[in-house]
Formats: sequence, structure tokens, C-alpha cells
Amino acid sequence: MNNSNRINTTLIAPCGINCALCMAYQREKNKCPGCNGSDEGKPKSCVRCEIKNCEKIKASSSRFCTLCNDKLCPRMKTLHSRYSKKYDVDVVENIKTIKAVGVRNFIKQEEKKWLCKSCGGLVSMHRDNCLRCGAKKEL
Ligand code: SF4
Ligand code: SF4
Ligand SMILES: [Zn+2]
Repeated sequence: MNNSNRINTTLIAPCGINCALCMAYQREKNKCPGCNGSDEGKPKSCVRCEIKNCEKIKASSSRFCTLCNDKLCPRMKTLHSRYSKKYDVDVVENIKTIKAVGVRNFIKQEEKKWLCKSCGGLVSMHRDNCLRCGAKKEL
């Protein structure tokens, strides 16, 4: 992996999604700056996101979802189920890992897991093929 592919800690969203793997972040045109970036260019659904704007997160000492003692709110439940089924991303597990080992170590795991074996860039969780080189994604 080259240095330009390193994932910045701000790219990890409060819901546990790694925005660096999002096709909206990886594409060249109308690029989204990521959940923690400026709202300019961000899809409206991400600006209005109930998780990003969650008062419980704002009141907590962490910038990540607290998981509400495993009693997830409907928005977090839906996100968890959709991403586990469709994209092989378990946002609850991501948050638990961040809590256990810290966001930097979580990122190290992500950089390994989502590495394109052909071009050394990061693949997107939303696509079966690498957006840079077109190679089939292998996790
Ligand atoms: S579209 Fe949403 S998930 Fe994708 S990079 Fe932007 S804020 Fe992150
Ligand atoms: S599970 Fe709890 S902390 Fe997480 S987004 Fe829902 S209400 Fe907020
Ligand atoms: Zn590639």
C-alpha cells in the first residue's frame, strides 16, 4: 500500500463505517469528503443522518456510537443489518474493535483487509471490483 492510500482517523464515521471504502468517497467526480468532513458535496441522507446527529453520542466521551448496551436504535439496527448482508461490513463489530484496540489499530486491520491485491489501493465495500484497476475484489 502506498502512503496516499493510508486511511485518516477522521474517515471512520460515528456509526463504524469506514468512509474510505465508500464509493462516494473513492470516485473522482462529486466526491463525498466523508461523514466527518464538510457537508458540501455530501449526500443529503448523510448530512441528515440520525446516527451522526445522535445526542447520546454527543453526550458521551467517545465520538462513536455507544451501542446503547446492545439495544441498538432502529437506525443503527437497520444500518447494521444492511451492511452485514450486502457489503460484508459489520459496523457493530467495527465499533467494538475500535473500543477494544483504538481507532488507529482498527485502521491498520482495515488497510490490510481491503487492500487490492492487484494495484495496492483500497477497494470499495460497495463494489465487487476495484474502482482503480478493475480487478475482482478478494477479501
Ligand atoms: S456517502 Fe456517507 S458513507 Fe459514503 S463517504 Fe460520504 S458520509 Fe461516508
Ligand atoms: S445505538 Fe444509541 S448511541 Fe448509537 S446511534 Fe443509536 S441511539 Fe445513538
Ligand atoms: Zn486495484
